[in-house]
Amino acid sequence: MAKLNEEQIFDALGEIHLPDGGVDIVSAGRITGLIVKDGTVQLSINTTSVEAPTMEELRKTCETVLAALPGVKSASAVLTEEKQDSGVLPVAVSDNGSDRGKISAQGVRAIVAITSGKGGVGKSTTAVNLALALARLGKQVGIMDADIYGPSIPRMMGIDGQPASASGNRLIPKESYGIKCMSMGLLVQEEEPMIWRGPMVHSALEQMLNDVVWAPLDILIVDMPPGTGDAQMTLAQETQLAGAVIVSTPQDIALLDARKGINMFREVKVPILGIIENMSYFLCPHCSERSDIFDTGGAHRTAENYGTAFLGEMPLDMAIRETSDSGRPIVVSKADGPHAQAYMEIAHKLVQNLDQSAHAEPTPKLVSS
Ligand code: ADP
Repeated sequence: MAKLNEEQIFDALGEIHLPDGGVDIVSAGRITGLIVKDGTVQLSINTTSVEAPTMEELRKTCETVLAALPGVKSASAVLTEEKQDSGVLPVAVSDNGSDRGKISAQGVRAIVAITSGKGGVGKSTTAVNLALALARLGKQVGIMDADIYGPSIPRMMGIDGQPASASGNRLIPKESYGIKCMSMGLLVQEEEPMIWRGPMVHSALEQMLNDVVWAPLDILIVDMPPGTGDAQMTLAQETQLAGAVIVSTPQDIALLDARKGINMFREVKVPILGIIENMSYFLCPHCSERSDIFDTGGAHRTAENYGTAFLGEMPLDMAIRETSDSGRPIVVSKADGPHAQAYMEIAHKLVQNLDQSAHAEPTPKLVSS
């Protein structure tokens, strides 16, 4: 099959002009995202609510033009709305005068980001079990997989298949264990690598928040990509986050990364709701002796040093891995066990901190005397 490259795609799109007879959509800067993967092309085109009705034909033209390119097996194009111009969504102004809050999920009371300084520390496992624990506390909960580079929520929540669409191009989230779930992993195969371009990450996150029927929700848990990269910044700066939870293993290096995360959120004025230490210690299944394989207590100390809450610690336990990796997270599959109980306590503290943070005065500025 002929090899497809982005240049060919942009050349072809450069022949398509806006409905008003003006410039082509590439020169007009309307292409906000492009994914090319195994002959499948996904395109997002920026529009405004005013012009959207006239853009539908252009969207179809893009699909037809792309599908006709050599090497393309299927092509889909979506229209994304430019919120700043439309004036439809409220733009929240934070106390530092920045425009944090441009992306808002309507009908969601609190968006909580679960983050980690680096991958593999158990961020997704924590996100899933925490979401389920919050649901057991009587909250209406959703979970959104923003870890678009390595989405693992579908596997951990035991869901697959494409989400159904509602009217107006909106998607209905899948439900599992009473929790609404949405992930890029539901739209693409788990084992297939994804090549994301910067703008696509931005519009994918925006779509997952704005174009998914989440409401009504008390808490939307967002499983963030690890680190402090572009996707992190987009979410931190453009979403009205109620706060962030940092997941860290006890090793110093992980905590060094975790500290970077804390500083980033502080800088963009997102409240840190607390730190969870995962894989904190190992309890021998045979003799019940505790071993602090990765050292212990580091997250606790970091929380103290940074004046941030310590939400709790989870041991390294095969049962946690087996249950989360097989789509039966421990909070529901061993609901009466000690691990479920520990997650419930963490969830309880999180709710308290959320309430406090919602009623807190803006952080007073330090004044030197
Ligand atoms: P991240 O989201 O930080 O990349 P994951 O949640 O995907 O990490 O976890 C990485 C692996 O570690 C998974 O196989 C998961 O089941 C396992 N894991 C996470 N937390 C624990 C734990 N406390 N005990 C044992 N295994 C765990």
